[in-house]
Amino acid sequence: MCSRSVASKTPVGFIGLGNMGNPMAKNLMKHGYPLIIYDVFPDACKEFQDAGEQVVSSPADVAEKADRIITMLPTSINAVEAYSGANGILKKVKKGSLLIDSSTIDPAVSKELAKEVEKMGAVFMDAPVSGGVGAARSGNLTFMVGGVEDEFAAAQELLGCMGSNVVYCGAVGTGQAAKICNNMLLAISMIGTAEAMNLGIRLGLDPKLLAKILNMSSGRCWSSDAYNPVPGVMDGVPSANNYQGGFGTTLMAKDLGLAQDSATSTKSPILLGSLAHQIYRMMCAKGYSKKDFSSVFQFLREEETF
Ligand code: NAD
Repeated sequence: MCSRSVASKTPVGFIGLGNMGNPMAKNLMKHGYPLIIYDVFPDACKEFQDAGEQVVSSPADVAEKADRIITMLPTSINAVEAYSGANGILKKVKKGSLLIDSSTIDPAVSKELAKEVEKMGAVFMDAPVSGGVGAARSGNLTFMVGGVEDEFAAAQELLGCMGSNVVYCGAVGTGQAAKICNNMLLAISMIGTAEAMNLGIRLGLDPKLLAKILNMSSGRCWSSDAYNPVPGVMDGVPSANNYQGGFGTTLMAKDLGLAQDSATSTKSPILLGSLAHQIYRMMCAKGYSKKDFSSVFQFLREEETF
């Protein structure tokens, strides 16, 4: 398998320069990789163009100019469009290319894409991430990687520039499986943290003091100690900035939908995961779709009449 350039700083393609893709691509630049950039939203490419990176007008054009490509897109539909669409990667992909999809999508879609990519003589790996925008900026993401094990080292070379943990999970789709389980737990723990904080506030506790106690007690979790949903408790998190930036409620609802589908196909009971899915769907319908998912605290506060 490999006319592909390895261990060299030849251009890397990057498709999807949103909240996560933007800082991830910047970390590749910091490590000296020239980039070939594409996003459907041209403004997302502007700062890369200003920095001297090459912006092209379709995923196919990225595939023509780069034999290693990372995609960071919102949903399964967007990933299928970027790969198999009229001007998708598969139209011009070179034999031996390494295509890494870091979007969180349906594992079944990852497997389908891998088959199509394989037919073109290239390699596909799913490598969704955990860690959020802060970790994307600091290069401390966790990557969960699925695909052919022999190709893992080649993927690690690039992913290691953007993350501090790059974990091989198994065959294609297993990276997505790990990610979906993580995010279902995250959604449940975020709602739990928001409920506990709200209850404590209503009982007269100072929110900062309550957070401090939770974080030295058995209720501690990432949502309470690194991403607290209550405004004023922590700096540098979305709750300190009117829930702007971060991980959108729509994306969390999407990930819980993926967990729901996976639970149905594997006949696994996910009672709290299903409830979390309904809560995040309801939030999207009630105007929270553009806010960070920790805004579930604000949602609970606004349901005063409950
Ligand atoms: P985002 O919506 O901020 O960015 C996605 C970018 O992709 C946008 O710039 C959009 O214009 C572009 N895009 C959409 N369709 C495209 C297409 N067909 N071709 C080219 N570009 C296209 O999303 P994000 O927050 O960066 O999340 C990306 C993925 O990472 C999602 O699957 C999400 O679930 C996952 N994720 C996000 C976070 C987070 O904290 N934001 C954390 C972990 C994982």
